[in-house]
Amino acid sequence: RCGYVAIVGRPNVGKSTLLNHILGQKLAITSRKPQTTRHNMLGIKTEGNVQAVYVDTPGLHKKSDKALNRYMNRSASAALKDVDVVIFVVDRNRWTEEDQLVLERVQYVQGPVIIAVNKTDRLDEKGDLIPHLSWLQEQLPNAEVVPISAQQGHNLDTLERLVAERL
Ligand code: GDP
Ligand code: MG
Repeated sequence: RCGYVAIVGRPNVGKSTLLNHILGQKLAITSRKPQTTRHNMLGIKTEGNVQAVYVDTPGLHKKSDKALNRYMNRSASAALKDVDVVIFVVDRNRWTEEDQLVLERVQYVQGPVIIAVNKTDRLDEKGDLIPHLSWLQEQLPNAEVVPISAQQGHNLDTLERLVAERL
């Protein structure tokens, strides 16, 4: 089995960190600064008879006149077409207007969507996504939800298994 997997989400949710951890190498640039990833990055993970081509997208941004933002939006939107699985990364304790914009695009995706609730290692922080999560699931009724920590590697085996099952 093989196929394309798009990793989407607003800037700073941890998309590049996730890809790096899945691949076990530093391929995508991660940073606190938004817009560190300017181009779609590809990473190939082969395990047994499963080959997944991951696409790390530059983040979907608010509509803007800036040419760079327009370009980044185009690349991210293009990544959503012709993919077999979409991983929608959200931050467990921060939902913003930009997440909403990504959600609206993900709702158009025909294929399987997995919601990865990231940064679950931040257990000490209050105001988590949990009250929001049931609402989010209603918006994407066919999506599977998996809590992860991209940084610590928590639950990424589950995420990869869910991806492989949907390729
Ligand atoms: P991207 O813009 O979505 O690609 O986000 P990055 O992967 O560049 O990560 C943005 C910031 O969030 C960086 O400072 C990461 O170290 C941090 N980050 C990513 N994943 C996690 C996580 O699971 N837990 C915590 N605590 N921080 C994370
Ligand atoms: Mg990135």
